[in-house]
Amino acid sequence: MSRAHPAGPKHGDLIGPSPLPAIPGPAAELTAGVWPVGADRDQTGTLCISGVPVTEVAERFGTPVLVMDADDLRTRARDYVRAFTDPSGRAEVTIYYAGKAFLAAAVVRWLRDEGLGMDVCSGGELACVLAAGMPANRVLFHGNNKSAAELRTALGAGVGRIVVDSHDELDRLAAIAHDEGVRAPVLIRVTLGVEAHTHEFIATAHEDQKFGFSLASGSASRAVRRAAHHPDLELIGVHSHIGSQIFVASGFEVAAQRAVGFLADLRAMDGIEIGELNLGGGMGIRYTEADEPLDIAAMGPALLQTVVAECDRRGVPVPRLAFEPGRAIVGPSTVTVYEVGTVKRRSLDGGRKRTYISVDGGMSDNIRTALYDADYTVTLANRIAPAAPELSRVVGKHCESGDIVIRDAWLPGDVVPGDLLAVAATGAYNRSMASNYNMVGRPPVVAVDGGRLRTVLRRETLTDMFHLDPGLTEPPITPTP
Ligand SMILES: *Cc1c(COP(=O)(O)O)cnc(C)c1O
Repeated sequence: MSRAHPAGPKHGDLIGPSPLPAIPGPAAELTAGVWPVGADRDQTGTLCISGVPVTEVAERFGTPVLVMDADDLRTRARDYVRAFTDPSGRAEVTIYYAGKAFLAAAVVRWLRDEGLGMDVCSGGELACVLAAGMPANRVLFHGNNKSAAELRTALGAGVGRIVVDSHDELDRLAAIAHDEGVRAPVLIRVTLGVEAHTHEFIATAHEDQKFGFSLASGSASRAVRRAAHHPDLELIGVHSHIGSQIFVASGFEVAAQRAVGFLADLRAMDGIEIGELNLGGGMGIRYTEADEPLDIAAMGPALLQTVVAECDRRGVPVPRLAFEPGRAIVGPSTVTVYEVGTVKRRSLDGGRKRTYISVDGGMSDNIRTALYDADYTVTLANRIAPAAPELSRVVGKHCESGDIVIRDAWLPGDVVPGDLLAVAATGAYNRSMASNYNMVGRPPVVAVDGGRLRTVLRRETLTDMFHLDPGLTEPPITPTP
């Protein structure tokens, strides 16, 4: 079942009934695969990330704070590179990290040093990765509406690949390349008609979404022909991305087969040989115990094998391959630590009760619950509680009833103001989608690296926000926290 919410804000009072999560085991248990590899509890029961107690992070950096296990992130990157190395040596593979999941200089440098490239989808993301030291030829530029200025900047910087998403963009890019006297390196983004969600995928000709050129309508082969024969464009390859938070390897397999079929048709009918096939990202991660993510070590080699076999069957040379995981690299590395401010008990229909626990962040640092009905795992982080678990809802401090961090969680009945809660797997699409709604500053990201704490992004202050408003100078009161 896809839990994506169509659009617009979701209000707490409109949320329908949903199955409640199972009552957890011992309160101290940290579900495997949900928490960073370096997460454990010390003898006082305090949650530690790579040996550093989150209480210490909270004291030094305030709350809310995102705490990243640097080893976890680097290990995942390495695991991807290893899993997508073709043992037969026939397919050369590049892993591009999808920067939109979370970008900061430290992350760009770690991933660069692990041999990954970077996928960006705006001029801002492009500037960030270049400034952080990612070589331009390892950058791939996405987006369905890149501006002329963004395209010009990307070409000027020597970006390795520009993924063209429309005929308008193809014209625009070619004109800019002509002006600049360069040939623009392009991939053509193709909508294969395979759309994958968490536990299922659909493979139809139905392509009712904004990205790419449609395969079914012939638009994709037209775009490839135009790019192949355009003097100002250099056709590098073809791109496909089938979705996000995917747990079914078969979605990727079907996409790979269709893509190779497309390459075979191009070769047979147009005499065009495609040198590179990018199969996108979307590999799912474990947010809760119920999620069973892909086993990358098994899936990688199997998928490469499918591509090679399909190429042999269709009589096309094996192209260079590329993948673009974002969430799967950074998501599990990070936890958000909040301080509890208030606790209320509410009666539900049928005599049940729910404990509302308000924390000092909310939809400004985690919009995914309101936007996608996302589920997360939470734990009491500063101690182990003896009290029996109560059905709880973790809510933020914003002026919206839909400001929910976790809809249904079992938390000890003795949680009180001042306790710390940690929410797992918040590394992807949390800080990068954060806002300063209600003039709440966006939280810092702090990495634990080799047992030491280091600032990846500092907290956004009231002074930062005041600087945007020409009618304001310095804040007259001390900003919180
Ligand atoms: C979002 C996106 C990704 C990364 O998706 P994840 O779910 O974070 O792995 C990769 N490629 C493209 C084109 C995307 O839009």
